[in-house]
Amino acid sequence: MNKNFNIENETEELDGIQDPISEPLSDEELDLLRQSIDAQKVDRSRLAHYDNSDKAKAIRYAKKNILFVSIVAISVICIAVILIFGIVFAVRYAKSKPNTDDFVIYIGEETYIEEYDFAMREDSLYIDMRKVAIEGDLIVSGTKSTASFSTPGGQYLSFEDGSDLAIINGNKVEMGGFAEISEEFCMVPYKFLSNVLDIDGNGLRISYNSRDNTVEVKRRYNKIDGKQVFLDVFFSADDFEVITEPIDPDTLYKYNIDITPYLDSIKSEALLLVNKDKENYLGSTYTPSDLVYLECQTRDPLRDWEFQLCSDAANALYAMMLEMEQAGFTEIKITSAYRPYSYQESLFNSYVAEYKRNYGMSQAQAEAEAEKTSARPGSSEHQSGLCVDFVTDEYPKLTEEFERSEEFKWLSANAYKFGFILRYPREKEDITGYSYEPWHYRFVGREAATEIYNSGISLEEYLEDTES
Ligand SMILES: [Zn+2]
Repeated sequence: MNKNFNIENETEELDGIQDPISEPLSDEELDLLRQSIDAQKVDRSRLAHYDNSDKAKAIRYAKKNILFVSIVAISVICIAVILIFGIVFAVRYAKSKPNTDDFVIYIGEETYIEEYDFAMREDSLYIDMRKVAIEGDLIVSGTKSTASFSTPGGQYLSFEDGSDLAIINGNKVEMGGFAEISEEFCMVPYKFLSNVLDIDGNGLRISYNSRDNTVEVKRRYNKIDGKQVFLDVFFSADDFEVITEPIDPDTLYKYNIDITPYLDSIKSEALLLVNKDKENYLGSTYTPSDLVYLECQTRDPLRDWEFQLCSDAANALYAMMLEMEQAGFTEIKITSAYRPYSYQESLFNSYVAEYKRNYGMSQAQAEAEAEKTSARPGSSEHQSGLCVDFVTDEYPKLTEEFERSEEFKWLSANAYKFGFILRYPREKEDITGYSYEPWHYRFVGREAATEIYNSGISLEEYLEDTES
């Protein structure tokens, strides 16, 4: 295109200098100009119809701004999503972050603080069984490296220092953590203990709140006539797989004393049955062949035959009393051991004579009456030389009160290890023929004593089971 006819450019360039069109164009130039204008003409009919209504304007406005609106909307959504994720993550993180405050342990009415690092081991909470035992009224026994916790009902839990195995009522199980035992504490995994106690109606309850690091150990009780009566405590191995590998029986029993000199006697068997059943009477001539005079703490002797026992029973008794001494019980003594037929006879006859004399009874009537307070000759287990009656300085009489003594609690949990059993338990009167006698212990040998202890049966039931 000829630059002379580029009007726009020319105008700008020559503005204020001179009018380029003042000079008339030649015909030729006009022709060229026309052609140039024609060439630039647009056929408007081919263009889209331009709608100028309000609606169209609004749509055009929206279309023009849709990108901007979209960007704003997406940005808002993005920010919201980031915020939500941020909050969720922060909450989760706060939750997953363990509370490292020291533990507050509520045991009954007592409160203890346990250092976080001491109670948390390998990310698991541990609990001190010695403290739990206080609330659970458990009887604690053991050595420097072992600890046993028993209920008065004969349930027990045993731990060994550094071992991940525990014994629940004779069942060896894995705890999922290692016990640490000292004279002050016995740390065991909380989860393990919680499973052991997880029995409906159990008398001991344990709970853990990980949010504020608190543990609560509480007894359960029933209200009877306005009085709190605690429910019995039980231990269950149901949640565990019992390890059935053969166990050396000797390793199941822990002693503080050197048991070696007594072990043969403790393991010897003495299953002689003497009771009020006539066929189990000992005859007038029955005297144990191996009676020895006891060399342990006894009441002041009154008669020359007193304080004798069969030699194995005597040895086992020595071991048991030495172990008790180690546990701090120095006031326990034997008040009765062997009792000969002749003594039973003279005692019984003196009662009979008294009834005949004072009440004018016949021989049969007087004997029946005397039997209520005194055993017929031959029916006393004391003639076997296998049993003893205990008293303490605090409980010097043969009454049920003896069960309140700490010595009784110890005997309840440990006598079986020495081959002794509580011969006349509560609630077995119908079977044994005797009222509850917490002071009367009978030597039967360790194996039988353990089974009787673990199953809570009487000697009569045990012998019936082994016969059949
Ligand atoms: Zn007795």
